[in-house]
Amino acid sequence: MQVIEMINKAAAEGRTRFTFETLPPLKGDGTATVFEAVEPLLEFDPAYINITYHREDVKYVERPDGLLEKRIVRRRPGTVGISAAIMKRYGVEVVPHLICGGLSRYDIEDALIDMDFLGIDNVLALRGDNMRGEHAFRTHPEGHAHACDLVRQIVGMNNGVFIDGEVEECHHSQFCIGVAGYPEKHAESPNGDTDLRFLKEKVDAGASYIVTQMCFDNRKLFDFINRCRAAGIMVPIVPGIKPFSTKAQLSLLPQIFHVDLPQELVSEVERCADNKQVRQVGVEWAIMQARELKKAGLPILHFYTMGRTDNMYKIAKEIF
Ligand code: FAD
Repeated sequence: MQVIEMINKAAAEGRTRFTFETLPPLKGDGTATVFEAVEPLLEFDPAYINITYHREDVKYVERPDGLLEKRIVRRRPGTVGISAAIMKRYGVEVVPHLICGGLSRYDIEDALIDMDFLGIDNVLALRGDNMRGEHAFRTHPEGHAHACDLVRQIVGMNNGVFIDGEVEECHHSQFCIGVAGYPEKHAESPNGDTDLRFLKEKVDAGASYIVTQMCFDNRKLFDFINRCRAAGIMVPIVPGIKPFSTKAQLSLLPQIFHVDLPQELVSEVERCADNKQVRQVGVEWAIMQARELKKAGLPILHFYTMGRTDNMYKIAKEIF
């Protein structure tokens, strides 16, 4: 089932459902850790499960002569495979993420063909971040510079247009495409209006819904939805919630994701004696956010779990 159908159905039923993201296993690991993270949450009937995509990384290895050798490594490959494994094992819909970073249009087409063969009809189309150590996003020589181009490629494939050209009389994929939106603006955007203009471009290119970057302040989420509507972006917007979990995230989350943390949350985390207490504060904050968003009638809420779902279990038990 396509995500957009699930969103519309939940909205029509006046229901709020949840989704969460999980990571593919580290290279060399089996599926067990992912299944262990996913399984407890199925009790609360998640609408679908997102699986992140991880581009190549840089590793420095010391050579016998003492010099450092730069090596490119893929730590978490297998997004498509683990998505299919989750879908097959639990019968739940999955949304693999797909990025432009490090991939040619042919690589992307291959991944999409695999997804289609596996019965996956949903994909979250993203640009991806810079490779570690690079100051700006470097487009693959045969790839895409922006997520809107990736959306166009997927829409093209749905219409029978492949990289090598149009294929007549072919099987047509039916991908429902989601894209990312930034209530607090994407870090590289000169301002919020420009960011919205490019978000609209992704929607106009064929995206059916938007998932937001994590946001800890519902006022900003509501404001973002209003600004999108004023800019003519009318597709459903799925708010992203991250259960806060360690003291270090006070500086890490703003640094990595360019988000502000409300002072009330910061004060509560600062008062915690250890990360066990921080996790509890994070659960309570996420419950407070989710409750308000549910009351506002949002049909789907997306949770960033980063592969750990014990705190998500407490939130789901309370809200869903
Ligand atoms: P884009 O939409 O391409 O935007 C990137 C920047 O370029 C923005 O500043 C935008 O305003 C600007 N821009 C967009 N279009 C144009 C244009 N046509 N011309 C000029 N400028 C333009 N990363 C991963 O690597 N793997 C994941 O699994 C992953 N999952 C994510 C899930 C969600 C819900 C979110 C919100 C982010 C996720 N990310 C993931 C991170 C994401 O890849 C980064 O935030 C990335 O920097 C931007 O991706 P994007 O798809 O928003 O890019």
